[in-house]
Amino acid sequence: MSTPFVSLIDVHKSYRLGDTRVHALRGASLDLRPGEFTALVGPSGSGKSTLLNMVGCIDEPDRGSVLLDGADVAHLPDDGRARLRNEKIGFIFQSFNLVPVLDVYENVELPLLIQPRLDASERRRRIRQALDDVHLADFARQLPDRLSGGQRQRVAIARALVTAPRLVLADEPTANLDSATAHHIVDLMIELNRSRAVTFLFSTHDEKLMGRVARVVHISDGVIVDDGIGPGGRAA
Ligand code: ADP
Repeated sequence: MSTPFVSLIDVHKSYRLGDTRVHALRGASLDLRPGEFTALVGPSGSGKSTLLNMVGCIDEPDRGSVLLDGADVAHLPDDGRARLRNEKIGFIFQSFNLVPVLDVYENVELPLLIQPRLDASERRRRIRQALDDVHLADFARQLPDRLSGGQRQRVAIARALVTAPRLVLADEPTANLDSATAHHIVDLMIELNRSRAVTFLFSTHDEKLMGRVARVVHISDGVIVDDGIGPGGRAA
């Protein structure tokens, strides 16, 4: 067994809400191995976003450890965290988060503009490759509002992958899509996980999307309650 790329060890996180505290994670532990595709499944409010925010160095745990590529990242200073996110992690969100005044090509280019070592021709090559990978090469000069929901999410996937991250985190990426499009997006993420050997963690409240997923982790009330082989894993 290879060393995990991500380890959460007994992670706790609570938020203050008025006079009370909401316990979003109550001792969550999870390992993700390099190149693994994992679905995190649980109902709304079960702690999925909070867990992804811990893995993605967006937020800090109250206690417990978060190891990324062997380093403890739980309590890094803000700039260290930002650097780590830019270098190692791609993010995909439920509401796509595209910049409306930029076209498809420019949206995918954005994360590369803060990578100073990349020259212009290499940047163009990477953007073209990312657009090809999500089958949007012919849409490079469209604005996002001319695209369907599924196409917008494919732009967001290209933007997440264009920096060649080691890890992609997708927080309910299919929640705003119809069921057929949602299945296509999951299939596309699985295809890119295999072809690019990127570690993927995606969250969903929709059990019906699990058909081809190899590993399905269930979360309930802030703890991992089941971690098993999904139907996609048995078929493989
Ligand atoms: P999920 O992604 O599964 O819907 P979340 O991680 O968003 O779950 O939320 C888990 C719990 O933590 C919920 O009860 C939610 O209301 C609460 N929560 C999440 N973020 C905050 C916050 N910033 N402030 C207060 N409560 C929060």
